[in-house]
Amino acid sequence: MNTTYDAIIIGTGQAGPSLAGRLAGAGMKVAIIERKLFGGTCVNTGCMPTKTLVASAYAIHMARRADDFGVVIDGRVTVDMKRVKARKDAVSEQSRKGVENWLKNMENCTVYEGHARFESPREVRVGTNLLTAERIFINVGGRATVPPIPGLDQVDYLTNSSIMEVNFLPPHLLILGGSYIGLEFGQMYRRFGSEVTILEMAPRLIQHEDEDVSQAVREILEREGISVRLNASCLSASKRGDQVTVTVDCGSGAAEVSGSHLLLAVGRQPNTDDLGLEKAGVLLDKRGYIVVDDELRTNVPGIWALGDCNGRGAFTHTAYNDFEIVAANILDNDHRRVSDRIQAYALYTDPPLGRAGMTVAEVQKSGRRAHVAQRPMTRVGRAVEKGETQGFMKLAVDADSGEILGAAILGTGGDEVIHCILDVMYCGAPYTVLQRAMHIHPTVSELIPTMLEELKPLL
Ligand SMILES: Cc1cc2nc3c(=O)[nH]c(=O)nc-3n(C[C@H](O)[C@H](O)[C@H](O)COP(=O)(O)OP(=O)(O)OC[C@H]3O[C@@H](n4cnc5c(N)ncnc54)[C@H](O)[C@@H]3O)c2cc1C
Repeated sequence: MNTTYDAIIIGTGQAGPSLAGRLAGAGMKVAIIERKLFGGTCVNTGCMPTKTLVASAYAIHMARRADDFGVVIDGRVTVDMKRVKARKDAVSEQSRKGVENWLKNMENCTVYEGHARFESPREVRVGTNLLTAERIFINVGGRATVPPIPGLDQVDYLTNSSIMEVNFLPPHLLILGGSYIGLEFGQMYRRFGSEVTILEMAPRLIQHEDEDVSQAVREILEREGISVRLNASCLSASKRGDQVTVTVDCGSGAAEVSGSHLLLAVGRQPNTDDLGLEKAGVLLDKRGYIVVDDELRTNVPGIWALGDCNGRGAFTHTAYNDFEIVAANILDNDHRRVSDRIQAYALYTDPPLGRAGMTVAEVQKSGRRAHVAQRPMTRVGRAVEKGETQGFMKLAVDADSGEILGAAILGTGGDEVIHCILDVMYCGAPYTVLQRAMHIHPTVSELIPTMLEELKPLL
């Protein structure tokens, strides 16, 4: 069947549904297409389920630490992985159904379930339906990268998607990739009770962060008994009995690591290879991301790309911000752009790492005259009271203008505290505004103004 719409949206991730809401609300006739799970990665296999699992892992960790707080647990503390998974499933399901019901009941909006493919710059096919529109929005997200490691195809590896079905405790989880996703899974499974080995090709974990941050995170994980193998250029994988063996070249130590299960966490790739983009003439970059301008328009007039598939962000908040930018430009005559946003994200290990703006290494590289302040969490009252003093916080400012250039808060509440810095950065206010702010006691945030009293030149 052929149907004409004012707008077609491909994908119901973090940008598509909200955009459908705005466009349909403005009176446009909208079609939205989903091939798998409503809500996309974040809701089903990404942020929500992982943070729900992190919460279970934190609960068992604190139960094991009960004695530190004078709390007596009479009996063994154990994890029921079936219930851990059930809790995670319930949280995801509520959100997934929320998105699905919202879209299916949305006035002016038709939901198609199936795989969407371009037939031309204005036509998209979903099964037997041919949809036509003057405006097409691509929000297809990404998936886990499977690296070309010899033997990997012979091994039952897990990805962030398939690990969502795990309702048992892997005796020894090998994790390929020491970045955000790998570290979150690593710490959570260690806390559930698995032996965990993280294999990272780079010389350090989360290699885009400053070295002191990488080092502190590594120490936090190792203190919990996680084994970290750096400089691991993985050569091959094989199955030996019920074990998975990964041959690594780590410069030192054993050249092989064996475990019961292998999780791949070596990055993501965009879902742009099966969209028929060549029929629409939409340009991709070398890594398969859709090339967009500052307002997320592709090279083909009338086609936009939002979220992970455009390579301009890899987070739920960047995908959602993409929706806001597109909606503002199309509906509100408000000229919002990708370049308006400040880099910000969190790593949800415990303690979490909250990040905003540049790293200190990036500041140094930029050649700007800068001042840096740093404070260990052992000197933060709130952290001491909670018995969670691992980590530190630091912040860099421009020595001439006072502009805040970047911050890292690795410590309890770091994912929330970072926003008091981020918002001052958005205001474009100098750090002195933050320095003079009266914050609430006792909080981690209250020490940010105090920390700013200790700014020192960055050498
Ligand atoms: C383990 C993990 C943890 C994460 N944790 C966080 C976190 O804590 N915070 C954070 O900000 N981000 C996190 N992320 C990243 C976040 O999930 C993504 O950045 C976000 O979901 C991207 O949203 P999106 O809208 O671009 O795409 P997606 O959410 O991936 O949605 C794309 C949708 O398009 C559909 N689709 C694809 N191709 C087609 C097609 N041809 N036809 C029809 N439908 C199609 C897909 O089925 C999917 O539903 C995490 C990711 C992972 C993997």
